[in-house]
Amino acid sequence: MFIEAFFLNLTVLISFIFLYHQIYRSKFITLYNHKTILLGIAGGILGIVLMYFSIQVDGNTIIDLRIIPLMLVAIYGGWIATTFTGVSIIVYRFLIGFNLSSLSNVLLVVFSALIFLFFASRIKNRWLSVITMLILSNIVFSIITYGLFTELKTYLTINVAYWLIIIVAGILAVSMNNHLLQSNKLFKEYEINAFLDPLTGLNNVRSFDRAFNRMKKQEKLSILVIDIDHFKQVNDTYGHPQGDLILKSVATIIKDSCRPLDTVSRNGGEEFTVLLLDYPYVDVLQIAEKIRGNVADYVFLINNDTLPINITVSIGVATYPDTSIYMDNLYRNADAALYKSKNSGRNKVYSYSVLEKEDSHL
Ligand code: GH3
Ligand code: MG
Ligand code: MG
Repeated sequence: MFIEAFFLNLTVLISFIFLYHQIYRSKFITLYNHKTILLGIAGGILGIVLMYFSIQVDGNTIIDLRIIPLMLVAIYGGWIATTFTGVSIIVYRFLIGFNLSSLSNVLLVVFSALIFLFFASRIKNRWLSVITMLILSNIVFSIITYGLFTELKTYLTINVAYWLIIIVAGILAVSMNNHLLQSNKLFKEYEINAFLDPLTGLNNVRSFDRAFNRMKKQEKLSILVIDIDHFKQVNDTYGHPQGDLILKSVATIIKDSCRPLDTVSRNGGEEFTVLLLDYPYVDVLQIAEKIRGNVADYVFLINNDTLPINITVSIGVATYPDTSIYMDNLYRNADAALYKSKNSGRNKVYSYSVLEKEDSHL
């Protein structure tokens, strides 16, 4: 009977922790950056749910795992969240019944909360601190339940069961919570790495594709394909690591030359792209020219800031519907324009035109 009921309590506890992390991981919640309050509310709800499934051990007394959410919130959320959870548990217990047991509950919650908050940050070894917290809270439980039962045998049976189950559940809850925190953190990291270029922090080719597919449904879209001139020579002369530094600086220059909403990507090697949504064609040409000029004017400092060098980029531009009839050809057209910039001496902006003869050249 005891075991079954505690097992149900344990199942509720574990499912709730799991659910909390699933919700917390979703974008909806991260929009509102109220982690502490959210944790306090979640702890309160969990405490209430656990009490709802609690075990009636005699006329007025119920026992359950309500103390575990209080401990979790103290460890991960601090005193504001803990107060919120504690008050929720106390209030709900009074709603179930106003008697000696619910009054004892106030003492149990208050003393346990103080113990949890005190030890959560003081003992560096996590497991030692968890076990200390659980034992001290259990001692409080044993002291305040001493007067509640008429028979010593009932008191002992309940206390032995309570101690065992609280320690097992507490350790389980903390390890599960740690595991979920860790895996959510990794998930976020992988998510970011999957879409960003690690060297420059720009979008990678995968997020470029995603952005392009999203934007191609719009009425006007432009793309700039930017390629560093003679970059192989730079690498061969100064070495790959210095080349990487230049790539980073070029990324920054491109980003700073555009609007914040434009999608700047490193599509591979020393090739970058910018997607410009709903921008007049003439303005797009001006942006491209600005990028070209800013790179050409910039003094790149390499070899520990001792060697100033200059580099240039060539840029190909295509705009739908101004230069390209088909949205799906946009990238290819910009690339063809880039090819022309390279062939006509580099450090140039060329734009694609459907009529070969009408290629415009800034
Ligand atoms: P062009 O003006 O015709 O574009 O000449 P280029 O030398 O820039 O072009 P090419 O395609 O022959 O060479 C590109 C070079 O870019 C080859 C490689 O050394 C360099 N490169 C590609 N990716 C990286 C990178 O991640 N880091 C560094 N440092 N260099 C890279
Ligand atoms: Mg190049
Ligand atoms: Mg290239």
